[in-house]
Amino acid sequence: DQRVVIAGAGLAGAQTAVRLREAGWAGTVTVVGAERHRPYDRPPLSKDVLLGKAEGAPLDVDFDTLGIELLLGRTATGIDAGARALRTDAGAVPYDQLVIATGAEALALPGSEGTPGVHVLRTLDDAARLRPLLTARSPLVAVGAGWIGAEVATAARAAGAPVTVLEAAGHPLPGALPPELTEPMRQWYADAGAELRTGARVAAVRPGEVELDGGELLPAGAVLVGIGSRPATGWLAGSGVELAADGSVRADDRLRTSLPGVYAVGDCASFPSARYGRRLLVHHWDNALAGPATVAAQITGTADTAYDPVPYFWSEQFGRFVQYAGRHAPHDTLLWRGDPAAGSAPGAAWSVCWLDGAGVLRAVCAVDRPRDLAQGRRLIERGARLDPVRAADPAVPLKNA
Ligand code: FAD
Repeated sequence: DQRVVIAGAGLAGAQTAVRLREAGWAGTVTVVGAERHRPYDRPPLSKDVLLGKAEGAPLDVDFDTLGIELLLGRTATGIDAGARALRTDAGAVPYDQLVIATGAEALALPGSEGTPGVHVLRTLDDAARLRPLLTARSPLVAVGAGWIGAEVATAARAAGAPVTVLEAAGHPLPGALPPELTEPMRQWYADAGAELRTGARVAAVRPGEVELDGGELLPAGAVLVGIGSRPATGWLAGSGVELAADGSVRADDRLRTSLPGVYAVGDCASFPSARYGRRLLVHHWDNALAGPATVAAQITGTADTAYDPVPYFWSEQFGRFVQYAGRHAPHDTLLWRGDPAAGSAPGAAWSVCWLDGAGVLRAVCAVDRPRDLAQGRRLIERGARLDPVRAADPAVPLKNA
Protein backbone atom coordinates (compact mmCIF):
# COMPACT_ATOMS: atom_id res chain seq x y z
CA ASP A 1 0.00 0.00 0.00
CA GLN A 2 1.33 3.44 -0.93
CA ARG A 3 1.40 5.79 2.06
CA VAL A 4 0.81 9.52 2.13
CA VAL A 5 1.75 11.16 5.43
CA ILE A 6 0.68 14.73 6.17
CA ALA A 7 2.49 16.74 8.87
CA GLY A 8 0.06 19.27 10.39
CA ALA A 9 -3.65 18.76 11.06
CA GLY A 10 -4.92 22.26 10.32
CA LEU A 11 -7.06 23.29 7.36
CA ALA A 12 -4.36 22.65 4.74
CA GLY A 13 -3.47 19.24 6.16
CA ALA A 14 -7.06 18.06 6.55
CA GLN A 15 -8.05 19.43 3.18
CA THR A 16 -5.12 17.66 1.50
CA ALA A 17 -6.35 14.36 2.96
CA VAL A 18 -9.88 15.03 1.68
CA ARG A 19 -8.68 16.07 -1.78
CA LEU A 20 -6.55 12.93 -2.05
CA ARG A 21 -9.61 10.74 -1.52
CA GLU A 22 -11.63 12.84 -3.96
CA ALA A 23 -8.87 12.37 -6.54
CA GLY A 24 -9.12 8.61 -6.07
CA TRP A 25 -6.10 7.95 -3.87
CA ALA A 26 -6.52 4.37 -2.64
CA GLY A 27 -3.43 4.13 -0.42
CA THR A 28 -3.23 5.08 3.22
CA VAL A 29 -3.52 8.68 4.39
CA THR A 30 -2.15 9.61 7.82
CA VAL A 31 -2.37 13.10 9.31
CA VAL A 32 0.00 13.91 12.18
CA GLY A 33 -1.09 16.90 14.31
CA ALA A 34 0.59 18.47 17.34
CA GLU A 35 -2.67 19.73 18.84
CA ARG A 36 -4.93 17.29 20.68
CA HIS A 37 -8.05 18.71 19.03
CA ARG A 38 -9.55 17.27 15.90
CA PRO A 39 -8.89 19.55 12.91
CA TYR A 40 -10.73 22.86 13.23
CA ASP A 41 -11.08 26.21 11.54
CA ARG A 42 -9.12 29.16 12.92
CA PRO A 43 -11.05 32.24 11.65
CA PRO A 44 -13.88 31.72 14.20
CA LEU A 45 -11.35 31.79 17.06
CA SER A 46 -11.11 35.59 16.93
CA LYS A 47 -14.80 35.98 16.09
CA ASP A 48 -17.61 33.67 17.32
CA VAL A 49 -15.43 31.72 19.77
CA LEU A 50 -14.17 34.87 21.52
CA LEU A 51 -17.65 36.37 21.37
CA GLY A 52 -18.94 33.28 23.18
CA LYS A 53 -21.23 32.33 20.28
CA ALA A 54 -19.40 29.04 19.57
CA GLU A 55 -17.19 26.66 21.53
CA GLY A 56 -15.05 25.86 18.51
CA ALA A 57 -15.25 25.23 14.81
CA PRO A 58 -14.42 21.58 14.02
CA LEU A 59 -14.02 20.94 10.29
CA ASP A 60 -17.03 19.24 8.78
CA VAL A 61 -15.10 16.18 7.59
CA ASP A 62 -15.87 12.53 8.38
CA PHE A 63 -12.28 11.28 8.64
CA ASP A 64 -13.29 7.73 9.58
CA THR A 65 -15.57 7.23 6.59
CA LEU A 66 -12.90 8.64 4.28
CA GLY A 67 -10.34 6.25 5.77
CA ILE A 68 -8.08 9.05 6.98
CA GLU A 69 -5.97 8.23 10.02
CA LEU A 70 -5.48 11.05 12.52
CA LEU A 71 -2.47 10.88 14.84
CA LEU A 72 -3.22 13.77 17.19
CA GLY A 73 -1.13 15.15 20.04
CA ARG A 74 1.89 14.09 18.06
CA THR A 75 4.60 16.49 16.92
CA ALA A 76 6.72 16.09 13.81
CA THR A 77 10.38 16.63 14.70
CA GLY A 78 12.18 16.05 11.40
CA ILE A 79 12.39 14.15 8.13
CA ASP A 80 14.65 11.19 7.44
CA ALA A 81 14.71 11.58 3.67
CA GLY A 82 16.92 8.54 3.07
CA ALA A 83 14.59 6.21 4.94
CA ARG A 84 11.47 8.13 3.76
CA ALA A 85 10.19 8.57 7.30
CA LEU A 86 8.67 11.47 9.21
CA ARG A 87 10.26 11.69 12.64
CA THR A 88 7.86 12.46 15.46
CA ASP A 89 8.04 12.72 19.24
CA ALA A 90 6.43 9.27 19.38
CA GLY A 91 8.46 7.43 16.76
CA ALA A 92 8.96 7.48 13.02
CA VAL A 93 6.10 7.33 10.51
CA PRO A 94 7.19 5.91 7.12
CA TYR A 95 5.90 7.58 3.95
CA ASP A 96 6.02 7.21 0.22
CA GLN A 97 4.87 10.82 -0.22
CA LEU A 98 4.96 13.47 2.48
CA VAL A 99 3.01 16.73 2.74
CA ILE A 100 4.26 19.52 5.01
CA ALA A 101 1.28 21.49 6.33
CA THR A 102 2.43 22.74 9.72
CA GLY A 103 1.02 26.24 9.21
CA ALA A 104 2.27 29.24 11.11
CA GLU A 105 2.86 30.32 14.69
CA ALA A 106 2.13 33.68 16.26
CA LEU A 107 5.08 36.01 16.74
CA ALA A 108 5.86 36.87 20.35
CA LEU A 109 6.67 40.40 21.46
CA PRO A 110 10.44 40.28 22.12
CA GLY A 111 11.03 40.20 25.85
CA SER A 112 7.42 39.34 26.75
CA GLU A 113 7.67 35.58 26.34
CA GLY A 114 6.53 33.82 29.48
CA THR A 115 5.22 37.00 31.15
CA PRO A 116 1.99 36.14 33.00
CA GLY A 117 -1.09 37.65 31.36
CA VAL A 118 0.49 37.94 27.90
CA HIS A 119 -1.44 36.08 25.22
CA VAL A 120 -1.31 35.28 21.54
CA LEU A 121 -4.25 33.93 19.53
CA ARG A 122 -3.46 31.10 17.17
CA THR A 123 -5.06 27.97 18.64
CA LEU A 124 -8.29 26.85 20.24
CA ASP A 125 -6.43 26.60 23.54
CA ASP A 126 -5.24 30.22 23.16
CA ALA A 127 -8.87 31.31 22.63
CA ALA A 128 -10.03 29.30 25.64
CA ARG A 129 -7.45 31.12 27.82
CA LEU A 130 -8.37 34.57 26.50
CA ARG A 131 -12.15 34.38 26.52
CA PRO A 132 -12.71 34.31 30.32
CA LEU A 133 -10.57 37.44 30.66
CA LEU A 134 -12.82 39.28 28.22
CA THR A 135 -16.01 38.14 29.95
CA ALA A 136 -14.48 39.20 33.29
CA ARG A 137 -14.02 42.63 31.66
CA SER A 138 -10.31 42.77 32.42
CA PRO A 139 -8.73 45.82 30.78
CA LEU A 140 -7.26 44.53 27.53
CA VAL A 141 -4.20 45.98 25.83
CA ALA A 142 -3.79 44.68 22.29
CA VAL A 143 -0.36 45.12 20.76
CA GLY A 144 -0.75 45.50 16.99
CA ALA A 145 -3.73 46.93 15.07
CA GLY A 146 -3.66 44.17 12.47
CA TRP A 147 -6.49 41.77 11.64
CA ILE A 148 -6.17 39.84 14.91
CA GLY A 149 -5.87 42.98 17.06
CA ALA A 150 -8.97 44.52 15.48
CA GLU A 151 -11.04 41.34 15.83
CA VAL A 152 -10.01 40.74 19.44
CA ALA A 153 -10.75 44.40 20.23
CA THR A 154 -14.21 43.88 18.71
CA ALA A 155 -14.87 40.82 20.89
CA ALA A 156 -13.53 42.51 24.02
CA ARG A 157 -15.75 45.57 23.52
CA ALA A 158 -18.74 43.30 22.90
CA ALA A 159 -18.00 41.70 26.27
CA GLY A 160 -17.74 45.14 27.87
CA ALA A 161 -14.01 45.06 28.57
CA PRO A 162 -11.99 48.30 28.33
CA VAL A 163 -9.70 48.09 25.30
CA THR A 164 -6.56 49.91 24.20
CA VAL A 165 -4.99 48.96 20.88
CA LEU A 166 -1.36 49.97 20.41
CA GLU A 167 0.04 50.23 16.91
CA ALA A 168 3.68 51.15 16.28
CA ALA A 169 2.94 52.32 12.73
CA GLY A 170 1.04 55.50 11.95
CA HIS A 171 -2.23 53.78 11.03
CA PRO A 172 -4.11 50.50 11.56
CA LEU A 173 -3.55 47.47 9.29
CA PRO A 174 -0.19 48.87 8.17
CA GLY A 175 0.95 45.58 6.66
CA ALA A 176 -2.06 45.24 4.40
CA LEU A 177 -3.62 48.57 3.44
CA PRO A 178 -2.48 52.13 2.67
CA PRO A 179 -3.25 54.91 5.18
CA GLU A 180 -6.04 56.55 3.15
CA LEU A 181 -8.05 53.33 3.38
CA THR A 182 -7.55 52.80 7.06
CA GLU A 183 -8.29 56.40 8.04
CA PRO A 184 -12.08 55.73 8.21
CA MET A 185 -11.35 52.71 10.39
CA ARG A 186 -10.14 54.91 13.25
CA GLN A 187 -13.75 55.91 13.73
CA TRP A 188 -14.77 52.25 13.98
CA TYR A 189 -12.57 51.89 17.05
CA ALA A 190 -13.88 55.12 18.53
CA ASP A 191 -17.53 54.19 17.95
CA ALA A 192 -16.96 50.84 19.64
CA GLY A 193 -15.37 52.58 22.62
CA ALA A 194 -11.93 51.12 21.95
CA GLU A 195 -8.92 53.40 22.21
CA LEU A 196 -6.63 53.13 19.19
CA ARG A 197 -3.16 54.63 19.66
CA THR A 198 -1.01 54.71 16.56
CA GLY A 199 2.70 55.52 16.67
CA ALA A 200 2.70 53.82 20.08
CA ARG A 201 5.72 51.65 20.82
CA VAL A 202 5.81 49.16 23.66
CA ALA A 203 8.93 49.47 25.81
CA ALA A 204 8.16 46.68 28.28
CA VAL A 205 5.39 44.32 29.31
CA ARG A 206 5.11 43.39 32.99
CA PRO A 207 2.42 41.46 34.83
CA GLY A 208 -0.54 43.84 35.00
CA GLU A 209 0.91 46.67 32.95
CA VAL A 210 2.38 47.77 29.66
CA GLU A 211 5.02 50.49 29.49
CA LEU A 212 5.23 52.66 26.39
CA ASP A 213 8.33 54.31 24.98
CA GLY A 214 8.49 57.53 26.97
CA GLY A 215 7.49 55.83 30.21
CA GLU A 216 3.69 55.98 30.15
CA LEU A 217 2.11 53.01 31.98
CA LEU A 218 -1.12 51.35 30.90
CA PRO A 219 -2.95 48.96 33.26
CA ALA A 220 -3.56 45.61 31.53
CA GLY A 221 -5.55 42.70 32.92
CA ALA A 222 -4.61 40.93 29.71
CA VAL A 223 -2.18 41.69 26.90
CA LEU A 224 -2.89 40.30 23.47
CA VAL A 225 0.10 40.30 21.15
CA GLY A 226 -1.08 40.38 17.54
CA ILE A 227 2.01 41.35 15.59
CA GLY A 228 1.98 38.69 12.92
CA SER A 229 2.95 35.09 12.36
CA ARG A 230 5.78 33.11 10.86
CA PRO A 231 5.87 29.70 9.18
CA ALA A 232 6.09 26.82 11.67
CA THR A 233 9.12 25.25 10.02
CA GLY A 234 11.73 25.18 12.78
CA TRP A 235 11.31 21.41 12.99
CA LEU A 236 12.64 21.06 9.43
CA ALA A 237 16.16 22.26 10.31
CA GLY A 238 18.69 19.79 8.95
CA SER A 239 16.04 17.79 7.08
CA GLY A 240 17.18 18.84 3.61
CA VAL A 241 14.00 20.76 2.82
CA GLU A 242 14.96 24.13 1.39
CA LEU A 243 13.53 27.13 3.24
CA ALA A 244 13.16 30.72 1.99
CA ALA A 245 14.57 33.71 3.90
CA ASP A 246 11.16 34.30 5.52
CA GLY A 247 11.24 30.79 7.02
CA SER A 248 8.67 29.34 4.61
CA VAL A 249 9.20 26.06 2.81
CA ARG A 250 10.37 26.98 -0.71
CA ALA A 251 7.86 25.14 -2.85
CA ASP A 252 7.70 25.25 -6.65
CA ASP A 253 4.62 26.12 -8.69
CA ARG A 254 3.28 22.56 -8.14
CA LEU A 255 3.92 22.89 -4.39
CA ARG A 256 6.79 20.41 -4.56
CA THR A 257 9.71 20.97 -2.18
CA SER A 258 13.42 20.40 -2.78
CA LEU A 259 13.09 16.82 -1.46
CA PRO A 260 11.64 14.19 -3.83
CA GLY A 261 8.11 13.10 -2.91
CA VAL A 262 7.72 15.94 -0.37
CA TYR A 263 5.15 18.74 -0.84
CA ALA A 264 4.27 21.84 1.19
CA VAL A 265 0.98 23.74 1.39
CA GLY A 266 -0.84 26.42 3.41
CA ASP A 267 0.66 28.99 5.80
CA CYS A 268 4.02 27.17 5.98
CA ALA A 269 4.80 27.29 2.25
CA SER A 270 5.74 29.95 -0.30
CA PHE A 271 5.40 29.41 -4.03
CA PRO A 272 6.43 31.28 -7.18
CA SER A 273 3.54 33.18 -8.76
CA ALA A 274 3.72 33.82 -12.51
CA ARG A 275 0.71 36.11 -12.09
CA TYR A 276 2.61 38.41 -9.73
CA GLY A 277 6.15 37.70 -10.93
CA ARG A 278 7.36 36.89 -7.45
CA ARG A 279 7.31 34.31 -4.67
CA LEU A 280 4.24 34.55 -2.44
CA LEU A 281 3.80 33.56 1.19
CA VAL A 282 0.07 33.78 1.91
CA HIS A 283 -1.28 33.50 5.46
CA HIS A 284 -4.98 33.29 4.66
CA TRP A 285 -7.69 30.68 4.95
CA ASP A 286 -8.53 30.57 1.24
CA ASN A 287 -4.93 29.62 0.35
CA ALA A 288 -5.00 26.72 2.83
CA LEU A 289 -8.31 25.62 1.31
CA ALA A 290 -7.29 25.85 -2.35
CA GLY A 291 -3.64 24.74 -2.35
CA PRO A 292 -4.39 21.12 -1.36
CA ALA A 293 -6.09 20.40 -4.70
CA THR A 294 -2.75 21.01 -6.45
CA VAL A 295 -0.89 18.71 -4.03
CA ALA A 296 -3.50 15.95 -4.39
CA ALA A 297 -3.37 16.26 -8.20
CA GLN A 298 0.42 15.90 -8.14
CA ILE A 299 0.39 12.88 -5.83
CA THR A 300 -2.34 11.08 -7.76
CA GLY A 301 -1.15 12.25 -11.18
CA THR A 302 -4.68 13.37 -12.05
CA ALA A 303 -3.73 16.87 -13.23
CA ASP A 304 -0.63 18.98 -13.70
CA THR A 305 -1.36 22.69 -13.45
CA ALA A 306 0.53 25.42 -11.64
CA TYR A 307 -0.85 26.83 -8.39
CA ASP A 308 -1.24 30.57 -9.00
CA PRO A 309 -4.27 31.94 -7.16
CA VAL A 310 -5.52 35.49 -6.73
CA PRO A 311 -5.07 35.84 -2.95
CA TYR A 312 -8.26 36.50 -0.99
CA PHE A 313 -9.08 37.11 2.66
CA TRP A 314 -11.71 38.63 4.88
CA SER A 315 -12.04 40.05 8.37
CA GLU A 316 -15.01 40.78 10.59
CA GLN A 317 -14.37 43.80 12.77
CA PHE A 318 -16.53 46.35 14.60
CA GLY A 319 -19.67 45.02 12.87
CA ARG A 320 -18.15 45.28 9.40
CA PHE A 321 -17.27 42.66 6.83
CA VAL A 322 -13.93 43.63 5.28
CA GLN A 323 -12.69 41.69 2.25
CA TYR A 324 -9.66 41.98 0.03
CA ALA A 325 -8.70 40.17 -3.19
CA GLY A 326 -5.63 40.52 -5.41
CA ARG A 327 -2.48 42.53 -4.74
CA HIS A 328 -2.05 46.23 -5.28
CA ALA A 329 1.22 48.02 -5.95
CA PRO A 330 2.08 51.49 -4.58
CA HIS A 331 1.82 53.11 -8.04
CA ASP A 332 -1.59 51.60 -8.90
CA THR A 333 -4.48 54.07 -9.20
CA LEU A 334 -6.88 53.91 -6.27
CA LEU A 335 -10.60 54.43 -7.04
CA TRP A 336 -13.26 54.85 -4.34
CA ARG A 337 -16.70 53.30 -4.76
CA GLY A 338 -18.76 55.03 -2.14
CA ASP A 339 -17.73 57.55 0.48
CA PRO A 340 -16.51 56.30 3.85
CA ALA A 341 -17.11 59.74 5.30
CA ALA A 342 -20.83 59.48 4.44
CA GLY A 343 -21.46 57.73 7.71
CA SER A 344 -19.68 55.60 10.21
CA ALA A 345 -22.62 53.38 11.11
CA PRO A 346 -22.21 49.71 10.26
CA GLY A 347 -23.73 49.21 6.84
CA ALA A 348 -22.28 52.43 5.39
CA ALA A 349 -20.66 50.43 2.65
CA TRP A 350 -17.77 51.34 0.39
CA SER A 351 -15.07 49.66 -1.57
CA VAL A 352 -11.86 50.51 -3.35
CA CYS A 353 -10.39 49.30 -6.65
CA TRP A 354 -6.78 49.49 -7.73
CA LEU A 355 -6.09 49.76 -11.48
CA ASP A 356 -2.64 49.46 -12.99
CA GLY A 357 -1.27 51.81 -15.66
CA ALA A 358 -3.14 49.91 -18.40
CA GLY A 359 -6.44 50.06 -16.51
CA VAL A 360 -6.30 46.40 -15.48
CA LEU A 361 -7.99 45.68 -12.15
CA ARG A 362 -5.31 44.52 -9.70
CA ALA A 363 -7.06 44.46 -6.33
CA VAL A 364 -10.35 45.17 -4.57
CA CYS A 365 -11.00 45.98 -0.92
CA ALA A 366 -14.67 45.96 0.09
CA VAL A 367 -16.34 47.00 3.33
CA ASP A 368 -19.84 45.51 3.47
CA ARG A 369 -19.97 45.31 -0.34
CA PRO A 370 -19.49 41.56 -0.87
CA ARG A 371 -20.78 41.80 -4.43
CA ASP A 372 -17.94 44.15 -5.39
CA LEU A 373 -15.53 41.63 -3.94
CA ALA A 374 -17.03 38.61 -5.71
CA GLN A 375 -17.25 40.36 -9.07
CA GLY A 376 -13.87 42.05 -8.64
CA ARG A 377 -12.17 38.79 -7.81
CA ARG A 378 -13.35 37.22 -11.06
CA LEU A 379 -12.30 40.31 -13.03
CA ILE A 380 -8.85 40.17 -11.45
CA GLU A 381 -8.53 36.48 -12.33
CA ARG A 382 -9.36 37.32 -15.95
CA GLY A 383 -6.99 40.31 -16.05
CA ALA A 384 -9.95 42.51 -17.04
CA ARG A 385 -9.54 46.19 -17.91
CA LEU A 386 -12.03 48.63 -16.35
CA ASP A 387 -13.29 52.08 -17.29
CA PRO A 388 -12.05 54.20 -14.39
CA VAL A 389 -15.08 56.50 -14.46
CA ARG A 390 -17.61 53.66 -14.34
CA ALA A 391 -15.52 51.73 -11.82
CA ALA A 392 -15.64 54.74 -9.50
CA ASP A 393 -19.46 54.84 -9.64
CA PRO A 394 -20.82 52.64 -6.84
CA ALA A 395 -24.17 52.44 -8.68
CA VAL A 396 -22.51 50.58 -11.58
CA PRO A 397 -21.95 46.89 -10.83
CA LEU A 398 -18.22 46.25 -11.05
CA LYS A 399 -18.72 43.56 -13.68
CA ASN A 400 -20.31 46.20 -15.95
CA ALA A 401 -17.47 48.68 -15.46
P1 FAD B 1 -2.62 26.07 10.57
O1 FAD B 1 -4.06 26.43 10.65
O2 FAD B 1 -1.65 26.85 11.38
O3 FAD B 1 -2.49 24.53 10.92
C1 FAD B 1 -1.24 23.91 11.10
C2 FAD B 1 -1.37 22.83 12.14
O4 FAD B 1 -0.14 22.13 12.21
C3 FAD B 1 -1.64 23.36 13.54
O5 FAD B 1 -2.69 22.66 14.13
C4 FAD B 1 -0.33 23.11 14.28
O6 FAD B 1 -0.52 22.80 15.65
C5 FAD B 1 0.20 21.92 13.55
N1 FAD B 1 1.66 21.79 13.67
C6 FAD B 1 2.59 22.77 13.69
N2 FAD B 1 3.82 22.26 13.82
C7 FAD B 1 3.66 20.92 13.89
C8 FAD B 1 4.56 19.83 14.01
N3 FAD B 1 5.88 20.02 14.08
N4 FAD B 1 4.05 18.58 14.04
C9 FAD B 1 2.72 18.36 13.95
N5 FAD B 1 1.83 19.35 13.84
C10 FAD B 1 2.29 20.62 13.80
N6 FAD B 1 -7.75 33.98 7.36
C11 FAD B 1 -8.67 34.61 6.62
O7 FAD B 1 -8.58 34.60 5.38
N7 FAD B 1 -9.73 35.25 7.19
C12 FAD B 1 -9.89 35.32 8.53
O8 FAD B 1 -10.85 35.92 9.03
C13 FAD B 1 -8.92 34.69 9.36
N8 FAD B 1 -9.04 34.72 10.71
C14 FAD B 1 -8.08 34.14 11.47
C15 FAD B 1 -8.19 34.21 12.86
C16 FAD B 1 -7.22 33.64 13.68
C17 FAD B 1 -7.35 33.75 15.17
C18 FAD B 1 -6.11 32.97 13.10
C19 FAD B 1 -5.04 32.36 13.96
C20 FAD B 1 -6.00 32.88 11.72
C21 FAD B 1 -6.99 33.46 10.89
N9 FAD B 1 -6.89 33.38 9.50
C22 FAD B 1 -7.85 34.01 8.72
C23 FAD B 1 -5.78 32.66 8.84
C24 FAD B 1 -6.13 31.19 8.58
O9 FAD B 1 -6.74 30.63 9.69
C25 FAD B 1 -4.86 30.44 8.22
O10 FAD B 1 -4.39 30.95 7.00
C26 FAD B 1 -5.09 28.94 8.10
O11 FAD B 1 -5.43 28.41 9.35
C27 FAD B 1 -3.85 28.23 7.57
O12 FAD B 1 -4.06 26.85 7.59
P2 FAD B 1 -2.82 25.84 7.69
O13 FAD B 1 -3.44 24.49 7.75
O14 FAD B 1 -1.84 26.16 6.65
O15 FAD B 1 -2.10 26.18 9.07
